[in-house]
Amino acid sequence: MKKHNFYAGPSILSEYTIRNTADAIINFADMGLSILEVSHRSKQFQAVIDEASAMVKELLEIPEGFHVLWLGGGASMQFCMIPFNFLAKKAAYIDTGTWASNAIKEARLFGDVDVVASSKEAGYTFIPKGFEVPADADYFHYTTNNTIYGTEIRKDPVVPCRIIADMSSDIFSRKIDFSNYDAIYAGAQKNLAPAGVTLVIVREDALGKVDRQIPTMLDYRTHIKKGSMFNTPPVLPIFSALQTLRYYKQLGGIAELERRDLEKAAYLYDAIDSSNMFEGTVTDPADRSIMNVCFVMTPEYKNLEADFIEFCAQRGIVGIKGHRSVGGFRASLYNALPIESVKVLVDAMHDFESTHK
Ligand SMILES: *Cc1c(COP(=O)(O)O)cnc(C)c1O
Repeated sequence: MKKHNFYAGPSILSEYTIRNTADAIINFADMGLSILEVSHRSKQFQAVIDEASAMVKELLEIPEGFHVLWLGGGASMQFCMIPFNFLAKKAAYIDTGTWASNAIKEARLFGDVDVVASSKEAGYTFIPKGFEVPADADYFHYTTNNTIYGTEIRKDPVVPCRIIADMSSDIFSRKIDFSNYDAIYAGAQKNLAPAGVTLVIVREDALGKVDRQIPTMLDYRTHIKKGSMFNTPPVLPIFSALQTLRYYKQLGGIAELERRDLEKAAYLYDAIDSSNMFEGTVTDPADRSIMNVCFVMTPEYKNLEADFIEFCAQRGIVGIKGHRSVGGFRASLYNALPIESVKVLVDAMHDFESTHK
């Protein structure tokens, strides 16, 4: 039986993505070869990466001047590539979680880092507001969705400098106004593809403004010039990404994905809010993530958390254990998750609650 997959990453992929990937592992593009054993320089794979890049541009309505890159190293590699390429003197970062603070740590190796706000002391249970970003910063970096804590910034920030964002866990869930961005990056394993590739969208004009020497592999210009083929790119994850992108387009694009995501999240948050047994961990409802819903049991029922996870497992629900640094529960509602799975989870919450009255 297919499980209800709430894992935070790697995470659920569409049936369409999985089937087409399985088929290509047997016979890719009618070559009589598996996608696992063909040259990345074959014309058949070139067509895959070209179409994948074009579809990212189409779905996200990316304006001229930006390049779509497919790189290795995960989002974590971008934590150093971004300041390597963009931080000349000073950058501004907002500290909204573990990933944001990892990005800050790397940026400090390259220049002044102005941490404009942090919710660390409060266990990252909200998004700081009313902070000021210095106009002389080379860029303002933020994490759009805090995968571990279940908070999200769903509006492009209004700041007096350029913007760079880690969108690993909520890309393709909303429209982005690219006009003030220099770069956006996302590890693929949350809303796009199996682990192994990172999607990077970078504005070419913004590069070449730092004095330092940049190792070839860490210089975005290398990958722009070589169309992400300076070295062997992650062939299989890129193939899967293309399948997901095609699926997103068939569904109706970003607007439809966002509508579904909002509906799923509202369904689960309503259940949490109307329960006496469960409560959300994010303190300001305006900051609640529509991708990762974090919740715990109220103090009276706290000792039942492990039982609930077991209760869910019996119904085919997997991946709802909260991150090891937070505890409780986290239900990840990525684009590929159908609302039916959310309904199964909510039914489990109701049934568990009524058996423990
Ligand atoms: C998962 C995640 C990362 C880390 O991604 P890797 O590909 O493992 O390096 C970074 N940022 C965010 C927001 C994430 O969700």
